[in-house]
Amino acid sequence: MKELKAKGACHCGAIQYLVCGEVMVNGLCHCPNCRRSKGVSPVHLITLCGENSVEIMQGDELLQTRALDKFHLVTCKMCHGPVMQYQEGMGFRAVFPVSLNLRRGNAGPDHGADRIPEEWKPQLHLNYENRLFDWDDDLPKFKVFPPDNPLKSDGTPLES
Ligand SMILES: [Zn+2]
Ligand SMILES: [Zn+2]
Repeated sequence: MKELKAKGACHCGAIQYLVCGEVMVNGLCHCPNCRRSKGVSPVHLITLCGENSVEIMQGDELLQTRALDKFHLVTCKMCHGPVMQYQEGMGFRAVFPVSLNLRRGNAGPDHGADRIPEEWKPQLHLNYENRLFDWDDDLPKFKVFPPDNPLKSDGTPLES
């Protein structure tokens, strides 16, 4: 599996974190939790194996976690910008490429990518059964998660 190591920050920059882990999925998520909590759909996210794949470097005291059933969204108390999200008991952390510095060597400000580098562009659509409208691109579209994903799902590919 591919490894992601990048710095990230909330919108105001008070929370700074380090993302380090094996990538499970890099995709566009159409699930209702993503869109209702961010106000946009789909949401580009990268899920990483392990509950310790996000390390808070600064602003620990500003972290705010809101749980809605098993869905947990971690945001900044000051700017309400998202830091990460996860499903309770599923052993992964999802982070948002818009908030990460994905440039090789992490040069520049730790305040999100100005452009997503080729290697970190989304690879697929997940939870496509929940899409608000159809997407006409060449990415594979999965009803829930891809079948080789360790997350619980039926992994059924959906023909677009
Ligand atoms: Zn903030
Ligand atoms: Zn989602």
